This record gives sequence, structure tokens and C-alpha cells, in this order.
Amino acid sequence: MDVPFLDVGAINARYADALKAATARVIDSGWYVLGEELAAFEREFAAYCGARHALGVGNGLDALTLIFRAYRELGVLAEGDEVIVAGNTYIASLLAISANRLVPVPVEPDPLTFNIDPACAEAAVGPRTRAIMAVHLYGQLADMHALSELAKRHGLLLIEDAAQAHGAMLDGRRAGAFGDAAGFSFYPTKNLGALGDGGAVVTGDSRLADTVLALRNYGSQVKYHHLHQGVNSRLDEIQAAILRVKLGRLDADNALRRGVARRYRDGITHPLIRLPQVRAEESHVWHIFTIRCPRRDALRRHLALQGIHGAVHYPVPPHRQPAYPELRNLRLPLTERLHEEVLSLPIAPTLADDAVERVIRACATFECSA
Ligand SMILES: *Cc1c(COP(=O)(O)O)cnc(C)c1O
Repeated sequence: MDVPFLDVGAINARYADALKAATARVIDSGWYVLGEELAAFEREFAAYCGARHALGVGNGLDALTLIFRAYRELGVLAEGDEVIVAGNTYIASLLAISANRLVPVPVEPDPLTFNIDPACAEAAVGPRTRAIMAVHLYGQLADMHALSELAKRHGLLLIEDAAQAHGAMLDGRRAGAFGDAAGFSFYPTKNLGALGDGGAVVTGDSRLADTVLALRNYGSQVKYHHLHQGVNSRLDEIQAAILRVKLGRLDADNALRRGVARRYRDGITHPLIRLPQVRAEESHVWHIFTIRCPRRDALRRHLALQGIHGAVHYPVPPHRQPAYPELRNLRLPLTERLHEEVLSLPIAPTLADDAVERVIRACATFECSA
């Protein structure tokens, strides 16, 4: 029996009855966009994150893009302003910045947590710097104490890319409640996943929330009256109803992920495998369990021969993508090395104990020199 990297069907199968009931409720209501399910989910998700506002949008990329767009509409950000971001993030973080004619400035991460290194962020602050984007990569909160302090000292916005970190907590505060605004994704594979695309902007800033509310709906808050050249990016009623079911199970599912991670961290002791470092147990929700290995490709093949399917997050850093020729000459040696060494092992709330055991045993039999 293979151990797939992720089986989303198995995750949702546990809640199938509740998900079908939620879907049926929306079908029967006859109301499918911008209705009561979305309003209820927005209240519940804002309360869960500990923030004043949550606004459902079409996907995680739109959530991040609309945050920057709203700051531009409000005159807080202007074309050419720089946003500091971790160099080893998923490309969506940068796309949200450059889509608004802002300039992404990728910097090196902390090699142990994979999150932006506050000292590297500080070194990158220049006269055009206006914001820092903290990506809680793989499910672990970035160093929000240091980044908040840094943002305050230089008068910068602090934006969270929380697409991988629903529920991650530090000192009683959750992802989404640390920065000026946060973008979440509800893509099906995320810790809080819809059965299609979805996303949310979370913020304590009522002016920003108001602007995003209009932007996601053609720039309009009153039908046929348009304050902005907005977009159509809304979280539909069926996805909102499904997310309400799954939000109620999120903490329990994150605890199950922590259990798998605990067993990997206790069980994998190979000299060539470097385990992820955890700042505080609650601050990591293990969206992805990523190890480092100097012979990553050989390890990946070794695991695959035993039916264990790893994945690489991510094989090419954004500054080396053809999409960003303007970043081609940037030198980020650590980021570049990480992309050659990282390997993500299967992790899910539903991953069976014997599958976890098999992964641990397969890692143990990886030859150091072959
Ligand atoms: C998934 C993800 C996004 C984008 O979310 P989508 O819903 O897929 O658009 C952005 N940033 C990070 C770090 C992600 O993992």
C-alpha cells in the first residue's frame, strides 16, 4: 500500500454527512452568492482568528492582492513602493505585490524555521520600503514579535500571508491577528480547505475592511454605485457553508497533525536529514512537514521505491522564475540551497499510525553514501 503525499478525500470523508447537509441547506435556500452563509462564516472566522473583520474572497491570491490594492486605493501605498518578503516563499506572495505595481524585495529566511529572518528584513529596509510581508511558511508563525517591532520602528505595514497557517498560535494570538492585515487561502489542500477555491482577508482595520468589501464586488457597496474599479472575487455560499463545518474541526485536525509531526520528530534520526525546528508547539500547525537533506533527490527516490510519496515545496525560488526577470540577478545563496535540499513528507490529520511508522522506517534505511 502506497503512502500518498496527501489524500484530501480522506480528510473530508470524515465529515461527509455534515458537508452534504451544509450543501443541501444552500441548495434549498435558493441564494448562492453574498448571503447568510458567508456573513456567518465571516463572523465565525474573524472570531476564531481574534480579529475584528474577515472578508471572504475568491482565493488566497486574491485575498493578498486585494489587501495591497486596498492600501493603494486608500493612498497608504503608491506605485514603486517596496515590500520585503521571504525569498523562499510560494510565488503567490510575490504576485500579490507586483500585481499592484509594488516592488517585491525577497530576503533570506532563517535556515532552521524557513521563515523570514528579521535581521535580513531589517538590512533590506530602504527609503522606498513601506511594508513587510510575513509568510507563515509550512504552517509555522514567522517571528512576529521581532517583525512587529521592526515594522513599528520603521513605520512599515506588516502583512501576513497566512495561507498555510490557519490556527497557528503564539501567546494566545492566532495567525491573522498579528499584522495590519492577513490573507488566508481555503484551497482544498490547506489546513482549512474548502471543496473548491476560497480565501479571506482578515484585519482589525475598519477602513481597509470597507475598501476590500467594495473591491471584491466590482468596487461597489451599494448596487450599481461604484467607488473603485473593483474585481469580482467572492467566497460563494456553498464554500462558506462547507468552511463553517470544517472551522469547527480545525483545532482538532491541527492537533492530529501535531501528533504526526511529533512522531516524525522523535522517530527520524538520520545523520543526513535535518528536521524542522519549532519555536513553540502551538505556533506550528504543520500544513507541510519539511525536512532538509543534502542528497534530497536520492532520498526522494529511495522513499518512492517504498511507495512513500514526498513533495518539494518549492523546486525553484520566485527570484529564479522566468516570471520575474527583474529579480534574476538577485543573490540569495541560502534560499537557493534550500530549494535544492527541502523535501516534504506526507502529513495529514488522517495519516494512519502504520503509515507514519513506514515513513520513519524508510528514512532510517536511506544509505548515507549510495
Ligand atoms: C496557497 C498559497 C497561496 C495562494 O492561495 P490560493 O488560494 O491557492 O490562491 C498564497 N500563499 C501561500 C504561502 C500559499 O501556500
